[in-house]
Amino acid sequence: MTALAEGRPVLLVADASGRETAERLRAGLQGLSPDVAATAQTPAEIAERLRESYAARRPCVFLGSMESLVLALAPLLAVSDGSPSVPVVAVSPDGADVVPVLGFGQGVEALSRRIADALDVGYRARTGTGEDADGASPAAGRLAVIGLGPGAPELMAPAVRAELDQAQDIVGYTTYVRMAGPFRAGQRILDSDNRCEMERARLAFELAAQGRRVVVVSSGDPGIFAMAAAVVEALDQAEDLRWHQVDLAILPGISAAQVAAARAGAPLGHDFCVLSLSDNLKPWSQIERRLALAAQADLVIALYNPSSKARPWQLGQALELLRRHRDPSTPVILGRDVGRPAEQVLATTLGEIRPEQVDMRTVVIIGSSLTRQIPRRDGGAWVYTPRWYPQSSAQTS
Ligand code: SAH
Repeated sequence: MTALAEGRPVLLVADASGRETAERLRAGLQGLSPDVAATAQTPAEIAERLRESYAARRPCVFLGSMESLVLALAPLLAVSDGSPSVPVVAVSPDGADVVPVLGFGQGVEALSRRIADALDVGYRARTGTGEDADGASPAAGRLAVIGLGPGAPELMAPAVRAELDQAQDIVGYTTYVRMAGPFRAGQRILDSDNRCEMERARLAFELAAQGRRVVVVSSGDPGIFAMAAAVVEALDQAEDLRWHQVDLAILPGISAAQVAAARAGAPLGHDFCVLSLSDNLKPWSQIERRLALAAQADLVIALYNPSSKARPWQLGQALELLRRHRDPSTPVILGRDVGRPAEQVLATTLGEIRPEQVDMRTVVIIGSSLTRQIPRRDGGAWVYTPRWYPQSSAQTS
């Protein structure tokens, strides 16, 4: 296995006029924590510093003239032992030009793009001929974060089905991974119950960086209280340049609130918001504040993670708060296991709902002042929020 350059980049300032650009770069590349090497100005100094970072296999960002870079690189390459090049990027001292020089297939493209972003200059991808020719490093793979929808196969997007069919590695929480099956022989299942989301995201990137075709599975939509944010955060924190070469895609799915809303009618027909009642990752005071503001703004509110064994009192408190702002007759929808065989959808009201009716497999939709119920053919009710606002209330509020 060839050693890939994975270290933190070195910023080599080979021209005093490049110091300010180096500082901008250091601030802009925080996730990569680059070191700034002392200014090297004589050709001998430049060559020595370049040799050090090259020998340590650390990517080098060179701030100086292209000529001085080529002169310093030449002796290093002449004695190269045939191992793959370490990424070297040339940046003009004024920060206006970013040119990948060495290390195609080793992360130089991704590094150059990050540098151009940090300096706020345009960057046109260039493909080095060495990318495929040397065969030294496997091409980076693909990582797709997919949303299965609520569970029913017909509510899964065809693009998600196709991605699953082509995947080599399937990463996710056991319950969801099971929902995504059946799998064919040869597909690897990495269902990591006891791993936290960030670990799962990093595992997925690691596999994809090795060239695997990976999916990370979420229920509903991956961007709604699910894995997509963790995966992008893992990339944001990545020190491994190979992760930036992974072909990353987020494939949407139908979220629980959408299914519950569709079953009940059209409660999300006007402005609404989506809140998670879980205070595992944010303080309860923040949740109360958001609930109160959403109630004051007369938004329809969809509550995810409304209740669990570990969080038994939160929903009761949230309902109490909402009752201070909204009428007891406000329609409320409880959607449990929607889009799954055990689906139950109940239309009730803010005055009548009891926390015991709700568990962690339920999504709760609370109407606005305009949300209404009308009788349904089967004896139940259609709940909807009209798409207009009364002129007078629009003017006075
Ligand atoms: N990404 C998911 C949400 C994950 S958060 C989505 O977009 O649907 C987990 C919460 O989602 C649960 O506590 C519950 O409130 C809600 N949820 C997920 N699937 C559900 C389903 N099939 N029926 C009802 N609620 C569901």
